[in-house]
This record gives sequence, structure tokens and C-alpha cells, in this order.
Amino acid sequence: MSEVPVIKTKKRFIAGAVCPACSEPDKLMMWSENDVPHRECVACGYADTLNEQGLSVPKELGTRVNTVAVKPAQDSKVQTVQFFPNPKLKKPDGQ
Ligand SMILES: [Zn+2]
Repeated sequence: MSEVPVIKTKKRFIAGAVCPACSEPDKLMMWSENDVPHRECVACGYADTLNEQGLSVPKELGTRVNTVAVKPAQDSKVQTVQFFPNPKLKKPDGQ
């Protein structure tokens, strides 16, 4: 009684669709589980789902990409701020 069955549709190739990971055309399969759309690339193994907004949510590659992308951007911002201290402000006034 406690288990809810997952309703899956058959996997179908999406004609003309290009894989976001390997850019191979006609390699993406699509199906849905409980009305949640899933996609999978048979060429490179890329897989994602679509959330309520219809946005792609990668299943496996997402976490790795995120951690690499965030760090360099923060470092460059800190460096540009540190170049601004102005030595002329130390000039003594009143002499
Ligand atoms: Zn692919």
C-alpha cells in the first residue's frame, strides 16, 4: 500500500535534437517518469531532467561543473579591489 508505482513512458529518440554535452544530433532519447521529462544521450551518456520551469537539470555532470566555475570568478574580483589603495592619501596635511 505504501509504494507508489512510477509511471514511465517509452523512451523515444528526439528527431533533430542535439546533445548539450557532446553535440551529437539524433542521439537524445526522451521519456517521462510520473510526468517528469527525462533525457538521455546514447552517444556520451549525458542525462538530465526538466524541472517545473522546463529548465534542464543535469543528473551527473552538473555538480562538477558548478564547483569549477565558481572559484576563479571570486578570486579575480578580490584582486581588482586590492590594487586600489592610493599612496597619495598618506600625504601629511598641515605642513
Ligand atoms: Zn551526448
